[in-house]
Amino acid sequence: MTLVVKFGGTSVGSAAAMRETADLILQSQADWGQVVVVASGMGSKPVKVTDLLLQGAHTAAAGDTETYLMVAEQLRQIHFEAIDGLLEPEGERQQVLAENGRFIDRFTALCQAVNVLGELSPRALDAISGMGEQMSIRILAAYLRQIGHPAEAIDATELVVTDGHFQNASPLFEQTEAKTGARIRPLLAQGVIPIVTGFIGATASGATTTLGRGGSDFSAAIFGQVLAADEVWIWTDVDGVMSADPRLVSGARSIPTLSYREVSELAFYGARVLHPKTMRPCVENGIPLRIKNTFNPSHPGTVIVPDSAAENGGVKAVTAIKNLSLITVEGKGMLGVPGIAARTFGAVARSQVSVLLITQASSEQSICFAAPSDATNAVIRSLEETFEEELKAQDIDSIWALPDVSIVTVVGAGMRGTPGIAGRVFTALGQHGVNIIAIAQGSSECSISLVVAGEETGTAVSHIHSLITA
Ligand code: ADP
Ligand code: MG
Repeated sequence: MTLVVKFGGTSVGSAAAMRETADLILQSQADWGQVVVVASGMGSKPVKVTDLLLQGAHTAAAGDTETYLMVAEQLRQIHFEAIDGLLEPEGERQQVLAENGRFIDRFTALCQAVNVLGELSPRALDAISGMGEQMSIRILAAYLRQIGHPAEAIDATELVVTDGHFQNASPLFEQTEAKTGARIRPLLAQGVIPIVTGFIGATASGATTTLGRGGSDFSAAIFGQVLAADEVWIWTDVDGVMSADPRLVSGARSIPTLSYREVSELAFYGARVLHPKTMRPCVENGIPLRIKNTFNPSHPGTVIVPDSAAENGGVKAVTAIKNLSLITVEGKGMLGVPGIAARTFGAVARSQVSVLLITQASSEQSICFAAPSDATNAVIRSLEETFEEELKAQDIDSIWALPDVSIVTVVGAGMRGTPGIAGRVFTALGQHGVNIIAIAQGSSECSISLVVAGEETGTAVSHIHSLITA
């Protein structure tokens, strides 16, 4: 049996956390026989290594010659402290210190280059932002060896072949399967535990790419698919997927089972506990997925299954995405013009923005969609170009944006069979003075999304959450 386990930032965030993680890895190996480990960069609170790397790169590009040097110092401190805390001086300590040190030197050199050029390409950003994983896996693998278990640190650039879409690359599964199989299977057969970087891959020609922020969850699912694993377990710092972000809602509860569909909606609409792309390789290959807490391993966490039971009138969780704007294209003449929707979203796609929610009035006199605030101007410009003729002819009267809104999404497959859920949600919000600006229901009917003013996000989330716990 093969298990793929992924450990997030906090699970490898310190020497103490890495000890816990090593115990869990060995337990998995004992239970399953073969275990493949995927790890993130160190993410001890309040600083995450990936954020530090990005900060260094961005400030360097902006002309700052000091911040990246300070960041390098911080990186050294974080990693060297973990290494000193875990590895014996007479063992591999010196070697791992030197290896980590080389990555930090490379970080400094890359930032220097970026600083001189005054420009940060997506490609350079990927080369820099994946280094956290490359450092953490070397520490973890050395610690496992020190406690007597063969383990090997492997950069996923050797395994995951992606397209050239830097920052948000997609895996090419056939090539990934061939490379991963050839590299990983012999290790597993010899009882060696592969400790692999999450988040990164490489193009066929060898340039480092990343799978998007939070992409280590996706990495685990990719390995699950190409190695035909029996299960994929995501170890994080909370008791599984919860009824709301526990950092925002104090009464949030762990959800024992969720369907792939439900968790996909949650992830897509902002619950960052799982990367939205994680589910597809698992669904398509029937691989069960679990989310568990490294710091509370006896808690069952959440199991993701093909179909899940309805509870609490079908509402299971609520989530939110902030910093959006609601863009509207409207005009009385739109009714007669064919293909308005297609052209609208074509224009949005050309500005490289993904739309989060769409509503259209049945009269076809307006189309309304939500997009990230920082992309608003680009989207509007692109729409104005596309509809130049229609604007002149006044078939379209205006294209405008309502700034600073949030999408609040209520998720639960059982909502389908339970009448009146939407009514209860609207009543709860109405009673607390939250104005609903727009509504969309997922076609699967397992989610309802509401657009509210940014400042009302917290109120909306907590009052909808109280319907779940009622
Ligand atoms: P990791 O580094 O382990 O991947 P993340 O920070 O990416 O950890 O994801 C875990 C965090 O997701 C939790 O600490 C929690 O704050 C946040 N989160 C947001 N929404 C939810 C939710 N519905 N259930 C659980 N955690 C959530
Ligand atoms: Mg994550």
